[in-house]
Amino acid sequence: MKRTKYCGHFSEGDVGKAACACGWVQSKRDMGGVIFIDLVDREGVLQIVFNPENTGAETFALAERVKNQSVLEVEGNLHLRDPETVNPKIATGTVELRVEEAKVLSAADTLPFVPEEAGNVRDDLRLRYRYLDLRRRELKDNLRLRHRASVLIHAFMADNGFIEVETPVLGKSTPEGARDFLVPSRVHPGDFFALPQSPQIYKQLLMVSGFDRYYQIARCFRDEDQRADRQLEFTQLDLEMSFVEMDDVLEILEALMKHLARELKGIEIKTAFPRMSWKEAMDKYGSDKPDLRFGLPIIDISDIAGKSDFSIFRQALKNGGVVRAICVPGKADFPRSVIDDLTNFAIDQGAKGMAWIAWREDGEIYSILDKYFTEDLMRELLEAVGAKAGDFILFSADQLNVVRQVSGAIRLYLADLLDLRTPGELNFSFVVDFPMFEYSEEEGRYVAQHHPFTMPKTEDLPYLETDPERIGSQAYDLVLNGTELGSGSIRIHDRDIQTRVFRQLGLSEEDIQDRFGFLLKAFRFGTPPHGGFALGLDRLIMLLADAPSLREVIAFPKLSNAYDPLTDAPSRVDQLQLDELHIALASDVAAGGGTALDKKEAAAAKTFDLQHLEQLSNIRLTESERSGMQAEIGSLIDFADQMSDLDTTGVEATRSMIADPRVFQGQEREPSLSQEDALANAAESEDGAFVVPVAVEQEL
Ligand code: ASP
Repeated sequence: MKRTKYCGHFSEGDVGKAACACGWVQSKRDMGGVIFIDLVDREGVLQIVFNPENTGAETFALAERVKNQSVLEVEGNLHLRDPETVNPKIATGTVELRVEEAKVLSAADTLPFVPEEAGNVRDDLRLRYRYLDLRRRELKDNLRLRHRASVLIHAFMADNGFIEVETPVLGKSTPEGARDFLVPSRVHPGDFFALPQSPQIYKQLLMVSGFDRYYQIARCFRDEDQRADRQLEFTQLDLEMSFVEMDDVLEILEALMKHLARELKGIEIKTAFPRMSWKEAMDKYGSDKPDLRFGLPIIDISDIAGKSDFSIFRQALKNGGVVRAICVPGKADFPRSVIDDLTNFAIDQGAKGMAWIAWREDGEIYSILDKYFTEDLMRELLEAVGAKAGDFILFSADQLNVVRQVSGAIRLYLADLLDLRTPGELNFSFVVDFPMFEYSEEEGRYVAQHHPFTMPKTEDLPYLETDPERIGSQAYDLVLNGTELGSGSIRIHDRDIQTRVFRQLGLSEEDIQDRFGFLLKAFRFGTPPHGGFALGLDRLIMLLADAPSLREVIAFPKLSNAYDPLTDAPSRVDQLQLDELHIALASDVAAGGGTALDKKEAAAAKTFDLQHLEQLSNIRLTESERSGMQAEIGSLIDFADQMSDLDTTGVEATRSMIADPRVFQGQEREPSLSQEDALANAAESEDGAFVVPVAVEQEL
């Protein structure tokens, strides 16, 4: 290879030697006759200098012409920089390559954005040009962190006796609770494969086969609504172990996390991780993935509230609800505006209001509750929540699930407000003892809280049919800083218990055979007790990289509307392909035809890009504002569609009932504005033209 080494690897040891470097032009400074270029590659940046003293006229002219992000190959000698140009911030800051020869290997066009500034560009634009976005150092660092994690994981798993086995991507639907992605079969008309939501069933079958310890870094697919911590396709470290109990699985996870934290972040984390029952997590932190980097526990004060005259508390209790409090130390002086924000936030989360107490340093108690609590009862209350003078206490009173949700959300809101979520800290914990089932109002039946292959608590088995709500499960979650990193369970390995669980989930005997007959059959031929886990690799890397979203740790992610603007996927396919797959689109059938393009445009018009509008106008909407506005815009678009569908042939145009003397439709057009007038109010103008931000210009 002609290149001596990576740009970022040159050092003082290379001074005095001939050097050849290749890379992208990151920036160019013309210092009156001498041109400095920062040439960059994946390893870093190197200053290259075009000086007529060493550089021929033709090469110098090339440096004058070359545009940012073009790819250059340069040759010359490596020198120490002049002392006044030394840059201690970069690894190659004391050296420079003085160019004798240069070649443009590939010239860059005008850029939609400068890669280093891509962090400030709207997501759809930066994902459309993801290859430019990925030139950024932060993203490269994130993906390299991911690569290092993956190398470490493979080694760790091998050292601990795990064997990697790949499982099919085209398979049968596995019920992890999300919608499947389906793949039509050409060979079996009308039949579909499902992309795996996880390799769950295959890994259990590998236990039946005697692999004993399996792992895989596996791609999983779930057709769910997107969030900052959710993508349609994601990667799991999936594992399964035979002849184990919960503790064995959790110990492996602890050891792996300890190893990764040490190797990747230089952090020593303490094991064993704290374990908390699901009920305790829900009651004390209002979440099944509690962020334990800070306190602010939720405290039940139902007994005390029941003795007060405060009708809202009494009413909630009378309706079978609870009253809970959070004490915020030292914040009795929260300004009114903060209290109002907290109240509005609580209401957004489903509360009807929010009672509070400000116990001032001087001992005075400010609260609506004051007149409904006797002095003794107030003292009892303050003691129960562990308050001192100077603290602020807030309350939530409603049905249990509402109170859990509201106070859990408020706890996080307070933590952000008070800056309690220390970035960089790694706080792991396990949540255990999950309920086996939860009732789904939507589906009108019980669904498995983890998945149907989870083993119920043995002592609860007698109540499986009669009292599903009391059945606990042998499931566990790993939580890091308030994010669920993964879940697992000890599995059912007995076909009778598995059948009973399926029945409890509302599956008919026929469904059971149809969907899971093969698994039940496998259990007939000698199945070891087994259990396992799956860890969300993208999420782990996101947290280790301190990145705000999964998009920052995935090379080619989708937008939040499940769309990839880079490749325009998903997109229409040829009729021929559909025919081969025996597929007729419902919209084609209903409309009796119509071109694919018409339909695509129609669909695009319906999904108004609110995010784009938010970014352009520099506003942030809350989740509820966003959904409200999306709904409103949707109904406006629907209304406009209905109007345009009306047959107006032969209908006379409506006349304005308001006389407006200023409006005339003259025969002649008014002379257009002079250029000077048109630009009079422009924020910025240049050579007789408005200056618009680059992002807007791209869109135009
Ligand atoms: N398959 C499960 C999941 O993806 C994890 C497990 O139980 O191992 O959540």
